[in-house]
Amino acid sequence: MRGKNFFLLTAGMAVFAFLAGRALTAGNCAVRTGAPVNADGRPEIALTFDDGPDEVWTPKLLDGLKEREVQATFFLLGQSIEGNEAVVKRMQEEGHLIGNHTYSHVELTKLSPEEAREEVVRTSSAIYDVTGVYTSFVRPPFGEWPDGLEFRVTMIPVNWTVDSRDWYTRNTPVIVRDVLDAAGPGDIILMHDCYETSVEAALQIVDTLKAEGYEFVTVDELILE
Ligand SMILES: [Zn+2]
Repeated sequence: MRGKNFFLLTAGMAVFAFLAGRALTAGNCAVRTGAPVNADGRPEIALTFDDGPDEVWTPKLLDGLKEREVQATFFLLGQSIEGNEAVVKRMQEEGHLIGNHTYSHVELTKLSPEEAREEVVRTSSAIYDVTGVYTSFVRPPFGEWPDGLEFRVTMIPVNWTVDSRDWYTRNTPVIVRDVLDAAGPGDIILMHDCYETSVEAALQIVDTLKAEGYEFVTVDELILE
């Protein structure tokens, strides 16, 4: 059993969602109980990709997700949007959720409150310019969120419950193994769409978990229902 949690905060209130104990294992068999399920009773899980859009690998990932009819969540760097507008537009058109990952991948807690707000707001504006939508979701780089920033930007910070460590291992079979070993119903999987190994691993993870009956959802569906 894994103990883990993620937090979500909404303007005006703080809601802590402790997800520990959602997945049980028995011997070598994964027995998943008490989990978020969809209307058909299938367990739900979310793939999230940080640090994009990447002009090469994000389109390849989108191709693979489209082929599999899977939606994911992309937390974008504001500085990478210019020149990749078509990729961002495609994410939106294909039903993916677009979130904010700051403008220049900074550790927000090391900035002044005004600088931290600017990093987030500038990115939301860049996303809006392409999609016509102000995203409500932000993933802070390194998982570091300054106290109270959610009230200044009126957004929901979303961390993760399964870290693929894909940026570190850069090895498709290792990424697949690590994620499948850790993943259970209701999990939010952290990956990065800027490496070939991550894209290959993500699609293999989708194939395996879909075969196990999972439904891939965007994080809003997972945490707001
Ligand atoms: Zn990042």
